[in-house]
Amino acid sequence: MTHNDSDTHHNHNQCIKTALATAESLCAAQGQRLTKVRRRALELIWESHRPLGAYQLLAKLAEEGFNSAPPTVYRALDFLLTAGLIHKVESMNAYLGCAHADKVHKGYFLICDQCHNVMEFDYQDIHSALREKAALQGFELRSETIELTGLCARCRSESTTGAQI
Ligand SMILES: [Zn+2]
Ligand SMILES: [Zn+2]
Ligand SMILES: [Zn+2]
Repeated sequence: MTHNDSDTHHNHNQCIKTALATAESLCAAQGQRLTKVRRRALELIWESHRPLGAYQLLAKLAEEGFNSAPPTVYRALDFLLTAGLIHKVESMNAYLGCAHADKVHKGYFLICDQCHNVMEFDYQDIHSALREKAALQGFELRSETIELTGLCARCRSESTTGAQI
């Protein structure tokens, strides 16, 4: 099943195109190579706004005849993570393409329980607030995992259509 609910809402091909173009220019700027397997892995992750697990990615790459040995795939994922082109959604143990790869940021996520689409949301205020609160306890933040679950706007509107006056 590759059906993606969010496709009807926006032009997802544009998301993919932009993501790949950003990846190309970021890699070029950093003197890195977006090898075939890295590029294809990124494209597959961007197939939808649902995070993709490493094993799903591995299976897709194998189907396409890439060297899909786990180390190859994990190296490609590591590269994409380090480059900021994807995020890991910890609670789903899966990877999501980042639409703001050209800006340094943490990934804070809204995860829809129903369609499993994941949206990133703006982090700067929350980040500053967390850092301040932690500092009050003499605590220095090193990592932040913020993953909120609920219903996305689309699923909410679907679940109330016809059911309410
Ligand atoms: Zn999209
Ligand atoms: Zn991001
Ligand atoms: Zn949803």
